[in-house]
Amino acid sequence: MLKHGNGIIYASSPLLGSVVFIAHGFLSRIGGISKGPFSSLNYDVREGDNKVNIEHHKAVVGRLFGFEAKRLLTINQVHGDDVLVIDKPVKNISDMSKTSADAIITNQYGVAIGVMTADCVPIILVDTVKKVIGMVHAGWKGTVKGVIPRTLEKMVKQFGSDKKAILAAIGPSIGQCCYEVDRSVVKEFGVTGSDSGDNEFIKKEGDGWRIDLKRANLNQLLSAGILEKNISMESICTSCRNDLFFSYRADGKKTGRQLNFIVMKGS
Ligand SMILES: [Zn+2]
Repeated sequence: MLKHGNGIIYASSPLLGSVVFIAHGFLSRIGGISKGPFSSLNYDVREGDNKVNIEHHKAVVGRLFGFEAKRLLTINQVHGDDVLVIDKPVKNISDMSKTSADAIITNQYGVAIGVMTADCVPIILVDTVKKVIGMVHAGWKGTVKGVIPRTLEKMVKQFGSDKKAILAAIGPSIGQCCYEVDRSVVKEFGVTGSDSGDNEFIKKEGDGWRIDLKRANLNQLLSAGILEKNISMESICTSCRNDLFFSYRADGKKTGRQLNFIVMKGS
């Protein structure tokens, strides 16, 4: 579901909307001040955008959702399956931003955890009983590595979460309509070169295959024990709608990254 606030457009999960102790958002590219390929609500400095723009975006989004810009943590995403655990108060959260990982979990109030995407799948996790939140970045590599089941296991191990109490929201990402891959990628999903490759989330088409990354991650959530009624999935394709979202595929390699975040309100 798309929402608007202070000129910013973002997707919101109706399922998470009913949880009173959190704020969350899958931000679009609309509502920022960056120019050119980063137009306009870019959050990533690595492709060459001006750092001042990104600081500005942190501030306006923080004001809109009620968290402090300096308490927003994004990390060095590497398409892996490592999970950063924050289980005690951290004074300078930005000190952790160089950590290489693709998921963050925390039980700390006021720490906004985020991942940046441009086609990859952002997934928010909320344990509504133990009050633990998670933010996951899953491209095809992270999906093959099982970053979702790894993150869920960490929530159980570190915080005693019961999977039946965990809500999961899959955010805007590339759809099967636009995600064509070659044989080498399909093979990584355990499909051999000789068969057609068709399954619940891989479809053979012409010389290539199309992967439904959202569906692959949905399957992993269900296999890991998350209840179907506790999962929401945003249907928007970031590549079809690159007017609204940054898309690595549709925009060419030089593009911005949108922010996906969750925070537990209060301190
Ligand atoms: Zn599409």
